[in-house]
Amino acid sequence: MTEPSIFTRILNGEIPGDFVARTERVFAIRDINPQAPVHVLIIPVTEQYRDVTELAAGDPGLMAEMVAMAKEIAAEHSNGEYRLIFNNGPSAGQSVFHVHAHVLADIEEGKLVGF
Ligand code: 5GP
Repeated sequence: MTEPSIFTRILNGEIPGDFVARTERVFAIRDINPQAPVHVLIIPVTEQYRDVTELAAGDPGLMAEMVAMAKEIAAEHSNGEYRLIFNNGPSAGQSVFHVHAHVLADIEEGKLVGF
């Protein structure tokens, strides 16, 4: 058995998390190291997909649910506009191999981060 991911442990209440949304299949927490005033991670409950490539091939509907949640969070916490970032692979900045999308919003002009 592989260890549960950090996100699964947060979902299970083993580690504290600041939840901003939750459905049956997707949840959202604030990133612990925010890169913008709104920096939320959108995460499927299942950790069977390592990255967005696997997710898109395996369950495109689940990916669509993640995008719908991103839009709702940006509307609720900012002006509805947002960046949606998936890091894919360690050299591209991925550190947690339980697929997740970064929602960045409320970004000050000229302060777009690249990470
Ligand atoms: P990645 O680098 O895989 O694209 O994104 C992983 C993200 O998870 C990072 O932005 C990192 O700050 C965030 N993260 C890592 N550990 C925790 C944690 O314990 N709680 C929360 N809320 N975010 C975390």
